[in-house]
Amino acid sequence: MAYFAARQAQTTLPCPHCGQALLVERSCREAHMYCAACRRRFDLKPFIAQADEALETFLEGLYLDRI
Ligand SMILES: [Zn+2]
Repeated sequence: MAYFAARQAQTTLPCPHCGQALLVERSCREAHMYCAACRRRFDLKPFIAQADEALETFLEGLYLDRI
Protein backbone atom coordinates (compact mmCIF):
# COMPACT_ATOMS: atom_id res chain seq x y z
CA MET A 1 0.00 0.00 0.00
CA ALA A 2 2.75 2.43 0.89
CA TYR A 3 4.19 4.43 -1.95
CA PHE A 4 7.08 6.32 -0.48
CA ALA A 5 9.21 6.32 -3.58
CA ALA A 6 8.55 8.48 -6.59
CA ARG A 7 7.64 6.80 -9.84
CA GLN A 8 10.00 9.00 -11.77
CA ALA A 9 13.20 10.87 -10.94
CA GLN A 10 15.53 13.16 -12.81
CA THR A 11 19.10 11.89 -13.04
CA THR A 12 22.24 13.51 -14.37
CA LEU A 13 23.14 10.56 -16.58
CA PRO A 14 23.30 11.48 -20.25
CA CYS A 15 21.18 9.85 -22.93
CA PRO A 16 23.34 7.63 -25.16
CA HIS A 17 21.60 9.09 -28.20
CA CYS A 18 21.28 12.81 -27.60
CA GLY A 19 23.20 13.54 -24.39
CA GLN A 20 20.23 15.02 -22.52
CA ALA A 21 19.84 14.07 -18.87
CA LEU A 22 17.78 10.92 -18.49
CA LEU A 23 14.84 10.26 -16.23
CA VAL A 24 14.50 7.03 -14.34
CA GLU A 25 10.98 5.64 -14.34
CA ARG A 26 9.29 2.62 -13.00
CA SER A 27 6.19 0.83 -13.97
CA CYS A 28 4.80 -2.09 -11.94
CA ARG A 29 7.94 -4.07 -11.20
CA GLU A 30 10.34 -2.76 -13.77
CA ALA A 31 12.46 0.31 -13.92
CA HIS A 32 14.08 1.84 -16.95
CA MET A 33 15.77 5.00 -18.07
CA TYR A 34 13.77 7.37 -20.21
CA CYS A 35 14.87 10.25 -22.39
CA ALA A 36 12.26 12.98 -22.68
CA ALA A 37 14.13 14.57 -25.60
CA CYS A 38 14.19 11.60 -27.97
CA ARG A 39 11.46 9.62 -26.21
CA ARG A 40 13.48 6.46 -25.98
CA ARG A 41 13.56 3.99 -23.17
CA PHE A 42 16.75 2.24 -22.13
CA ASP A 43 17.49 -0.82 -20.10
CA LEU A 44 18.47 0.23 -16.61
CA LYS A 45 21.31 -2.22 -16.14
CA PRO A 46 24.07 -0.41 -18.07
CA PHE A 47 23.36 2.74 -16.04
CA ILE A 48 23.52 1.21 -12.59
CA ALA A 49 27.33 1.04 -12.64
CA GLN A 50 27.47 4.81 -13.18
CA ALA A 51 24.44 5.71 -11.09
CA ASP A 52 24.33 9.21 -9.63
CA GLU A 53 22.73 10.10 -6.32
CA ALA A 54 19.27 10.57 -7.81
CA LEU A 55 19.33 7.16 -9.43
CA GLU A 56 20.70 5.46 -6.33
CA THR A 57 18.00 7.00 -4.16
CA PHE A 58 15.37 5.95 -6.65
CA LEU A 59 16.67 2.39 -6.76
CA GLU A 60 16.74 2.18 -2.98
CA GLY A 61 13.07 3.07 -2.93
CA LEU A 62 12.40 0.53 -5.64
CA TYR A 63 14.06 -2.31 -3.80
CA LEU A 64 12.47 -1.37 -0.50
CA ASP A 65 9.08 -1.62 -2.14
CA ARG A 66 9.81 -5.16 -3.25
CA ILE A 67 10.60 -6.49 0.19
ZN1 LIG B 1 17.86 11.20 -25.90
